[in-house]
Amino acid sequence: MQNQIKKDRIPFRWLNGSTIAVLICCGYWHGQAEDAKPTPAAPAVVPAVAPATAPTAAPVPAPVPAVAPPAAPATAPTAPPAAAPASEVKDVSLTADQALQRLIAGNARYVAGSATHPDQTPQRRAELAKGQAPFAIVLTCSDSRVAPELFLDQGLGDLFVIRNAGNILDDHVIGSMEYAVEHLHVPLVLVVGHEKCGAVSAAVAGGEAPGHIRSVVEALEPAVEQVKNLPGDKVDNAVRANAQRGAEILTHVEPFLKEAISHAKLVVVAARYDLATGRLEILKEATPSLSKH
Ligand SMILES: [Zn+2]
Repeated sequence: MQNQIKKDRIPFRWLNGSTIAVLICCGYWHGQAEDAKPTPAAPAVVPAVAPATAPTAAPVPAPVPAVAPPAAPATAPTAPPAAAPASEVKDVSLTADQALQRLIAGNARYVAGSATHPDQTPQRRAELAKGQAPFAIVLTCSDSRVAPELFLDQGLGDLFVIRNAGNILDDHVIGSMEYAVEHLHVPLVLVVGHEKCGAVSAAVAGGEAPGHIRSVVEALEPAVEQVKNLPGDKVDNAVRANAQRGAEILTHVEPFLKEAISHAKLVVVAARYDLATGRLEILKEATPSLSKH
């Protein structure tokens, strides 16, 4: 990747080059209606984007009804099944604050057991085949119990998700974020740690980790060190510190993230996910441009 972050700018151990990051957004630079070039974040220049005060991100396709269409009767259909409508991409771009509120509202539905599972219809799927315009980037753990589209009650095309054990940062993660910010104009990054994270627990426990797990543990050690003398649950303290630390680091990463933040086009927020309740707790806004919520 051409835009590797400069190691001398980020003095943390997650930049030591070894990673087991699990990018699940493989091939994300394909099929973009607005970006056909297969080189994410390649241009060194700042693209022409929205005014600073109101981030008018790339057009977000209009939401479709969350309720799936009723199945046609098996016999004697009175009309042929409706074909997927032609894509009508409407500009409903969100500000960072609106994006965060949408995520908070979705999590509230999930916690209450009233998730609507939006944007999962065949029609929506067909629309998104023409291009994506997610409204939030979510970095979280690979833990099978921490699935962003589920606990935030969002659908296809809504979230640009990056996951690895311990929701750690490395060049691959940051490069993915840069792509989403520069090419998809996503206005919000949410860094989510979670209760009882196994990766963080391993880092708190210390000792030698086998194989490439070692690189994950080492990347988490600064967060563990940061809170080692605090009272309370050491793992949970480190989970919170790791998410907040990650969000804070992102605000300083050049060139794209720092620049987008400086122009009020991007906000970074840290959060913690509670396994038992499903609740998302906002920990810290690493950037100051959001209104209180
Ligand atoms: Zn975890």
